[in-house]
Amino acid sequence: MPHYLLTFVDVLGLSTSVYFEKGLPMSENCDCLFCKIVAGEIPSKIVYEDDICMAFDDVEPEAPVHTLLVPKQHYENLNDNVPAEVLGHMLETLPKVAEIKGVHDSGYRTIMNTGPDSAATVPHLHMHLMGGVLFGRATFENSQRYNN
Ligand code: ZN
Repeated sequence: MPHYLLTFVDVLGLSTSVYFEKGLPMSENCDCLFCKIVAGEIPSKIVYEDDICMAFDDVEPEAPVHTLLVPKQHYENLNDNVPAEVLGHMLETLPKVAEIKGVHDSGYRTIMNTGPDSAATVPHLHMHLMGGVLFGRATFENSQRYNN
């Protein structure tokens, strides 16, 4: 488990540094919805689970198949220094989840949102696996332009 150094500087300019471990299970001390699902504190329709990640169906599906794959450790999004092993494992796991959901051969769309412009909702890294329908091209139809 990698350690990270966090330094606070108070009003007198004195600094306090603490080490913390990235990716500790957060369910006991944060309100993260997906951490609570991973911990079993909030029920979900679990599709797949291993030591590193868990897949469960989206509660507000936007396609006949809409499953979310999340790492069990908490990372906010792709900007959160997610270890390559975790990302690689998730991508490797995705076809297995697609197989379970019956869209492995028909095909599926995979989406990861990062940051305010992406319309991300839950700040816990997740991949959307969507399928069971013939998607159109991804477009910007419902997107807003910046005015500046
Ligand atoms: Zn979380």
